[in-house]
Parts: sequence; C-alpha cells; structure tokens
Amino acid sequence: MANQAPSCIVVIGGGQAAGYACKALRTEGFDGRLTVVADEPHDFYERPPLSKGVITDSATLPRLFSEDVVEALDIDWRRPHRAVEIDRQASEVVLDNGERLAYDRLLMATGSRPRMPVPEWNAIENVMTLRSWDDACRLKERLGESKRIGIIGGGWIGLEVASSARKFGVEVDVFERAPRLCGRSVGIEVAHAIQALHEQHGVGLHLDRQSIELAQDADNRVCVTADDKAYAPYDLVVVGVGVDINLELARDAGLTTEQGIVIDAAGYTSDPQVFAAGDVAQHPHLGLCLQSWAYAQNQAQVVANAMLDKSAHYDEPAWLWSDQHNVNIQILGIPTTETHCVIRQEDSGSVFFYLDNQNRLVQMVAFNHPRAIKLGKRWLAAERVLDGVVLADPEFNLMQLR
Ligand SMILES: Cc1cc2nc3c(=O)[nH]c(=O)nc-3n(C[C@H](O)[C@H](O)[C@H](O)COP(=O)(O)OP(=O)(O)OC[C@H]3O[C@@H](n4cnc5c(N)ncnc54)[C@H](O)[C@@H]3O)c2cc1C
Repeated sequence: MANQAPSCIVVIGGGQAAGYACKALRTEGFDGRLTVVADEPHDFYERPPLSKGVITDSATLPRLFSEDVVEALDIDWRRPHRAVEIDRQASEVVLDNGERLAYDRLLMATGSRPRMPVPEWNAIENVMTLRSWDDACRLKERLGESKRIGIIGGGWIGLEVASSARKFGVEVDVFERAPRLCGRSVGIEVAHAIQALHEQHGVGLHLDRQSIELAQDADNRVCVTADDKAYAPYDLVVVGVGVDINLELARDAGLTTEQGIVIDAAGYTSDPQVFAAGDVAQHPHLGLCLQSWAYAQNQAQVVANAMLDKSAHYDEPAWLWSDQHNVNIQILGIPTTETHCVIRQEDSGSVFFYLDNQNRLVQMVAFNHPRAIKLGKRWLAAERVLDGVVLADPEFNLMQLR
C-alpha cells in the first residue's frame, strides 16, 4: 500500500505540525481526501503567542493561515473529536464516537500536554496550566483580576507568563526545584543572565525549592508552601513544569517509541504507512523531542513530501526563541557538558557561544541579536572553527565571519 500514490490521508491532531503538513500536502499536489481529527474546535493556530502577545495585547486566535487558505485546503474535519485507536491491521483510525476512518497514509501530529506533577492540583480552582487557546483566554481573564500570582516551574513558559504578568503590574513569584532557571536547555551563564533580567523586573525567584505544596484557602486563593516556608496566598498559580508527549496512541498501536515516536529523517515511523511530525516526533538525529515552533513547522513540511513519496530529508539544528521583558532570546543548538562559554556583551544585548574543545560551535544563545543566530546557523552547518577572543570582542563586527 505504501508504494501506491495515496488517495486518502488522515492526520491526527490539529496543531501547528498538522497545519503545515496539510498545507504542504496540498501544495505538493495531493488532491485526495484529507481528513483531520482534532480535539480542539479551532482552526490551526500557533502556540508561542499564548504566553506572550495574546496575554499582553491581541485577543484574537493566532491563526496559522487565513480562513480562505484553510477553506482552500478542502479538509474533511472531524472536530472536536479524539482519535482513540489506530488499527494498523485494517489501516483505520477509530474515533471517540466509534467512527472508523480508512487511511492510505497516516500522520501522527498529536503534540504534547502540560505535566501536572501532583494530580490533586487539578482540583484546586485557581491552579492552571497553559497549552491551548482556551487556557490562554482563561489566563488573560484571571490575570486581569489578580494582584499576585505564583508560578511553579522556572522554564520558558513559566518565565514568559511571569514577564507578561509583570506588564500588568501583577506581583509574581516563581518557584523552581533546580538551583537555576531553564536548566535543561541552557548553560549556567545564560541561566544567570535570565535570572538577572527577571530580578530587574521585580519577579520574585525562589530557586532550589525541593518540596512544593499547594492548597486552596477559604477565599479560593492558592497557598504555596515551599520547603516548609508558607507564602502569602496567590490569586492564581500557573504550573509550567514541562510536558508529557502525547504518545499513547502510537505506543498502543505498537509503533516504536522512545522519548517520542521514533522516526527517520523523512518522518517515517516503524510502519511505512504511518508518519509523525512536531512535538510527538522524536528528532531523527538528536534523539529527543524538541518542542519547538520551528521544528513543528519545518519538519512537518518535509514529512508531507515523504507522505507523497517525494524525496525528503530533515536536517535542521535545534532552534527556538522566547520573549521576556522585551528581550528576544534565541537558542540555537542543544547544550552538552563538554563545552566552554565565550560571552560577548554588546549595548543591545549579550551573546553566549558554547564551543567544543576544537572551538567549533555547539550551542549559541543570543539576547536581542537575531543576526548573530543567522550566522551561527552557518557556522554550525560548516563546523567552522572559531576564535573565542574575536567572538568576545564587541568592537569586532561578527558579520566579517560570514
Ligand atoms: C504557551 C506556549 C508557548 C510556546 N512558545 C514557544 C516559543 O516561544 N518558541 C518555540 O519555538 N516554541 C514555543 N512553544 C512550543 C510550540 O508551540 C510547540 O512545539 C508546537 O506547538 C508543537 O506543535 P505540534 O503540532 O506538534 O503540537 P500541538 O500544537 O500541541 O498540536 C497537537 C494537537 O493535537 C491534539 N491532539 C492530541 N491528541 C489527539 C487525539 N488523540 N485526537 C485528536 N487530537 C489530538 C492536541 O489537543 C493539539 O491540539 C510554545 C508552546 C506553548 C504551549
């Protein structure tokens, strides 16, 4: 079957990877039935603005494509519906209403969901996580009524919410188990710079808190106790301690999974009729789930080509960004332990270069310096040997190293 041109494609998930895959499938000439099973009722939208501009400015759905473009994709929507089983023997997807959808090719784009470390916290009224448009609308509304909020987790999403809340003058305390912020994705030098940024903007940071307990008081506020110290109650607590990958469907169907669904560079899973894209698809070379906007968009488009039997190969480095207190932070590459850090301080912001023992770039983090990241992408691809002294010199124009 996988060798015949497909006439019906089913996509599970209606997020960013699904959206870009559907668009690419149509652009590449697929004119068969394209069915999307999505458990959210909205058209394809992107999530990065949910912790940033949606809270502070615009209150409209951050659509991936205009309504006309979505209309032209001629999608046979099943929404809001969940796929509950993949019957690989019959090449069918089973929905929560019992409907069975036949497929020639199937794309898994089920993304991830916020982790709630203590299940009982789900029952506390003013404790929430942030993943969807509906979550963001609720958060925006609650922030408007809040004087002080607590955030559990000093990672990207928690810190972006902290930054957005400070723009409304809301008092913010962040509680983090590790001794530093964003510890899984950046080195200590960057973590300290992010910490300083938040301190400058009045965010209370409580790091290295091993035991965190939440409870509801009589006024529906949330009491936080961290390492036996009780804090004054919060109007709202946002939990941002990472995600669980939505792997269950794939695992139950017997596809090979590790941290995510195991795929090759074209997006094939262990079943040649089934493909995976976005957060749920383990990066083909890095062996981890990146959870990045750029991966969800670009890898999904590559996979769409493979689904139509065209040549396809995904080979981009990890790249993601964050906006906090009007500083744009871009991260290129993933951290490893065997690096040394070169720091460049410019008036507009700093750049952190993590180099290996041969002075080749491994990871780079730029504060308000997107052009440096563009250069870094070239250096990574070329495995260019760099001179730390030159990189650190703010008088030296990095563009000379193009
Ligand atoms: C608040 C927030 C801010 C972010 N900011 C940034 C940023 O600044 N930079 C960056 O690079 N990345 C950022 N990200 C990460 C980025 O948005 C994700 O990596 C990206 O959305 C992944 O796309 P996806 O399509 O794989 O998954 P998703 O966008 O999560 O879409 C998956 C969809 O599938 C649905 N689904 C799951 N299971 C089923 C099922 N069985 N049946 C039907 N539907 C199902 C889900 O409900 C969801 O709608 C952010 C994420 C969040 C939540």
